[in-house]
Formats: sequence, C-alpha cells, structure tokens
Amino acid sequence: NKDQQSCGIQNNPLNNIKKIIGVMSGKGGVGKSTVSALIARNLAKQGYKVGVLDADITGPSIPRLLGVKDAKAMGAPNNCIYPVQSADGIKVMSLNLLLEDENQPVIWRGAMISNTVKQFYTDVIWGELDYLLIDMPPGTGDVALTVMQSIPINGIVMVSVPQDMVSMIVAKAVNMVKKLDIEIIGLVENMSYIVCPDCGKKIQIFNGNDTSKLLDDLQLNLLGTLPMNAGLGNVSVGVYKDGDEEVEGLFNPIVINLLNSL
Ligand code: ADP
Repeated sequence: NKDQQSCGIQNNPLNNIKKIIGVMSGKGGVGKSTVSALIARNLAKQGYKVGVLDADITGPSIPRLLGVKDAKAMGAPNNCIYPVQSADGIKVMSLNLLLEDENQPVIWRGAMISNTVKQFYTDVIWGELDYLLIDMPPGTGDVALTVMQSIPINGIVMVSVPQDMVSMIVAKAVNMVKKLDIEIIGLVENMSYIVCPDCGKKIQIFNGNDTSKLLDDLQLNLLGTLPMNAGLGNVSVGVYKDGDEEVEGLFNPIVINLLNSL
C-alpha cells in the first residue's frame, strides 16, 4: 500500500546539507531555542541557505521564534514533507507546524519522539542547505542520544548560564557529546550579565567565575556571552522585529567564532 510507505532518504534524494550544527543545553530554560533561532537568522542574513530542525518535540518554540507559528507544513509526493519558510528565507520544521493547535501537549513515549525527529531529517525536503541547525531536545536523555546517533551532526554549540547547578548539568551534556565522538564547537554563555541602564556598566547577575572554570575543566572554546535583556526575551514572544540591531549585533561575534571553529 503506497499510502503507508514512508518517505525516507531513498524517496527524498535531493537533500544536500553541507553542515549540521546541534544546539544543546543540559537543562531547559537557559535560552537554547532563542540562541538557535538567532544564529539561524544571522546566517540567513549573511546569505547562507539555512534550515532549522526543531528536535525539542515537547517544547517546540522554534516556529514562534522564527515568526511562522501560524504556518502549516504541507505534504509532498511520496509521503515526504515540505518545510515552512520564514520571512527571512529560513526553512523550518517543527512538530508545532504539523499540529492543529499549538497548545496541545504531545504525550508520547521516547521512541515515538525519537522517530519523529529522525523523520524530520530524512523525510523533510530540505533541498540545498549551507547550514541545518538542530534545536536539540533538552537534557541528556534517550531522545538526545538518538538524535546524535542518527543524524550526522558536524558539531555542537552548547548553551549555558553562569550558575553552578547549570554548569554541572552542562558538564554532563558535554561529556555525553564527547563519548559519542561529536565535536563541540564551543559554548555560548547566556544571561551572562545585565547592562545598567544609567551608567552602562555590565553587572554579573550570577556568581561570576563558574563558566571560566567549566571552560577550563572541559577544554571548551567560549563562542561569546549574551546579556539578559528585554530584546532577547522578546524574540520568544514574537515581538522581535527584523532590524533589532542591538540583538543582531550581539550575535555577529558569536557567529564569526562559530564559523571559524567549525
Ligand atoms: P530553552 O530553549 O533553553 O528552554 P528558551 O530559548 O526557550 O530556552 O528561553 C527561555 C526563556 O528565557 C524564554 O522566555 C526566553 O525569551 C527567555 N530568554 C532567553 N534568553 C534570554 C536573555 N538573554 N534575556 C532575556 N530573556 C531571555
């Protein structure tokens, strides 16, 4: 029965993805999805062909972050699927682009989630891409493991915040990636500081030196630091507009470091 056939690599031969970058964090809520989306926008603005695969199935926030939350992904021949395209030309696939109602929870076991993520790689018509970013599932559980074992990731960007407990969990994630022989491109420290509105001074909110110790201990490259500010917070509520130069400017050095280290 042809309808039952799944798409798979064999029915989807035109994908040509040059580099696959996973964005990971040990723990939810540190800004992994925000960082994934803004790296993607930065690369797209430079003229690269970019896709974002939202592998954070139970908390899929990429469609909102890239301004396509009301779009729906369309079916293609052979049960393959077309990604949605954002205003800035980024190809996007997320479970929320397949659901009728983005507020419905996905109550699935790990194996089903892992299969869906695999299909987002094999069954989506990504076409030619310079960079496919994967917003990784949070944590070091079975879904993250399957993604890393079934998709040929070229490198991982780790996102952290400067707090002891987070550093410990990030260390676990880093060691997991190393065990799987995947390269860690570097670490982005989010919510690193706030800028005093009166004097412009950078104030460290958390206790400071945790990240430098983490970088030393794990021999990681620091790709850059990001402040805690409304501009970055706004990305996730969808009021971020193109031309928010402050936010965009923060990502230029990070993306330069990333491309140089990949
Ligand atoms: P994760 O993917 O790690 O769960 P998100 O990217 O969804 O994290 O971010 C979690 C929340 O924190 C979101 O509401 C986001 O807008 C906010 N946020 C992330 N980074 C910053 C920042 N640097 N400044 C302010 N808010 C931020």
